Amino acid sequence: SIVVTGATGHLGRHVVEQLLEKVPAEQITAVVRTPEKAAGLAARGVRVAVADYNAPETLDGLFAAGDKVLLISGNEFDKGRVGQHTAVLEAAKAAGVALFAYTSAPGSLTAALADDHRGTEAAILASGVPYSLLRNGWYHENYTENLAPVLAHGAVVQAAGEGRISSAARADYAAAAVAVLTGEGHENTTYELGGDEAWSFAEYAAELSRQTGREIAYNSVSVEALQGILAGAGLPAPLAAILAGVDASIEQGELVVESGDLSRLAGRPTTPLSEAVAAALKG
Ligand code: NDP
Repeated sequence: SIVVTGATGHLGRHVVEQLLEKVPAEQITAVVRTPEKAAGLAARGVRVAVADYNAPETLDGLFAAGDKVLLISGNEFDKGRVGQHTAVLEAAKAAGVALFAYTSAPGSLTAALADDHRGTEAAILASGVPYSLLRNGWYHENYTENLAPVLAHGAVVQAAGEGRISSAARADYAAAAVAVLTGEGHENTTYELGGDEAWSFAEYAAELSRQTGREIAYNSVSVEALQGILAGAGLPAPLAAILAGVDASIEQGELVVESGDLSRLAGRPTTPLSEAVAAALKG
């Protein structure tokens, strides 16, 4: 079967929805840690398995020989994600899965945020399991789902200068993952995934101005200032530092992806940023 971890997360939900359009529900296993959140999937015939990356014994028996697995990277920054992901990898290897796909980060990204992804990729390569590295670029939703402070202050406050981002919708990255999980010939591949069009925060602010009819500026601050702003908004200091560090990478062009892999795998153009803005403003 096709096994998807993080199936009740934002990306995982898109993946399972799109899988359901392509394969019978009983061929899909949703791995979740909170089964109540997966009741809707179970009702539609998706097999639901309960496991926690932090409890390796819950991973035993999760996979079967020949399965195609998508490990959606976790979001517990303080729990050692490389160790969490490696536990899933070892269970998959022991079962003899046919493909192990992993949602990574662009190969060009040097920010600290990428360290866990590079560590996980190294473990996957060393394991000898047939793999597909889905090096996901940024989501539109990282920005469009956080519009409240932007609208409140009439400003996009970032620390990326004129750097550009090839973001795409989560649904686009899900389509690429589904293509890899349901298609043939994706063993031992690395895909650099990003949106068809890169944009700058100045352009993003202009798009917000256009769609809201209000003047929204781009206020480019230093990385240290952004870190302070994020910490002031309540983020734990280490996370504020990690997120502000991403902007330094954006300024260097590290989130521009020019491979075309995403629209090629999805079989269609990626979602324009303007569409994600419109969807977010509609609420
Ligand atoms: P979410 O935070 O919505 O989803 C994360 C998923 O991981 C959830 O389903 C969560 O389970 C699951 N998970 C976390 N920890 C564990 C654990 N210990 N055991 C089992 N499951 C666990 O993120 P998205 O879906 O939006 O994105 C997917 C991943 O992509 C993120 O986790 C992160 O690694 C990365 N990411 C990428 C971004 C990008 O722009 N490319 C931006 C942000 C994140 P539950 O549903 O129970 O909470």
